This record gives sequence, C-alpha cells and structure tokens, in this order.
Amino acid sequence: MLEELKKRVFEQNISLVKHGLVVLTWGNVSAKDEETGLVVIKPSGVPYDTMKVEDMVVVDIEGNVIEGRYRPSSDLPTHLYLYKQYTTLGGIVHTHSTYATAFAQSGREITAYGTTHADAFYGNVPCARELTDEEIDEAYEQNTGKVIAEAISDVEAIPAMLVKNHGVFTWGSTPEKAVENAVTLEEVAKMALLTEQLNSETPRIKQHLLDKHYFRKHGKNAYYGQK
Ligand SMILES: [Zn+2]
Repeated sequence: MLEELKKRVFEQNISLVKHGLVVLTWGNVSAKDEETGLVVIKPSGVPYDTMKVEDMVVVDIEGNVIEGRYRPSSDLPTHLYLYKQYTTLGGIVHTHSTYATAFAQSGREITAYGTTHADAFYGNVPCARELTDEEIDEAYEQNTGKVIAEAISDVEAIPAMLVKNHGVFTWGSTPEKAVENAVTLEEVAKMALLTEQLNSETPRIKQHLLDKHYFRKHGKNAYYGQK
C-alpha cells in the first residue's frame, strides 16, 4: 500500500544523508497521505546504507502500524502530534544537523540576517522551550511535539523549529519540501554563526528586504522560478 509515497519517503530519508544532515541513524522523514490520512515514516534504527523502500512503515494517525515489518521511528509521536495540529502538513523532517543543532543546544533562535534565510523563513527561526522533568518522563516524544507547537506562531511562514538541547524539525506541504527546508535551515544556521563571528553586532535583515525575498517566493504574488 502507498507504494509511491513509500518510495518518496525512502528517497527523502536517503537525501538527508546525501545533504550531510544526518550521520548514523539520527534523523527521519515522514509523509502524510492526503487521501487516507495514513503516515509513512522511516523504521527505527535501520542503517541508511541497507535500508530499502519496503522497510518504510505505514501507520495511522494514532500510531498503529498498518503495514511494515519494522517498528516505526521512535520520533513518530512527535510527527503525529504535528500532523494532528496542522492538517496542511504533508511532510516532516527531523535531524541533528550540526549548525542548526548548535543553536538548539544554545537555546538560541536563528536570527534572520540575509536573503538566503528570508527566501525560506519569514523571520527568526525560534527555539522551543525546555521540556519539564514530567514531560521527559511521560510521553517524551509526544511532548516534544507539544513544545514545538507551543512555539509556532505561523506554521507556513516559518516551517522549522529548534528543539532545545536536541535538534531540529522542519516541515512542508510535501516530504521533498520538508527536506529542502531542513537543508536551508542548516545552511542559514551556518551562515548566521559565521556572521556573528565576523561581527557580533550585525543587525537583523531589514524588514523591507525580508518581505521582498519571502514574498517573491511565497504567497499569491510570488514570481520566483518557472510557472
Ligand atoms: Zn533527535
């Protein structure tokens, strides 16, 4: 079932490795099938170099395995929490990509300094709050989704969130778009860090330029790229 979507999820999981966002088995991509509402996600702990399309796990929105011989990624409850909260999402990515995670570990948002950032994220990328001890003990992965949702102001305008002391989640209307946002996030985190090293007083990009770049790619008046 959902063979086409399984193939796409598999390919996007592999592309996390190709883009250098993931080492070992840290990271996962999921996608939600619009028609059935079922979710396809990477299996837990299966190495990327031996992983196959048929290893992808199909679950329902409550996390019951519908198809697949492996257990789903342990981060599944975080993905499901976000799919339930934001029904427009078609893909979610989790990584511990180095630069973005360095910001997450510092508990710092990623400031929008330039147009690379503005092309994808309409403002600073926030960092979700720390989980309480109770939230860590009980339903940890689901609570990770909860603190992410708490910190989201506009799920479409800023399709990414840093998770304190942990890593990053990004999303989009498709798994491909979610991975693209993960790649962009890592790149802008790297640029932001270098920018601050060169000039610790660097101001945020001015709003007028942020608007120009964001809205030339997003929304009803977008004109970037091909029709
Ligand atoms: Zn993680």
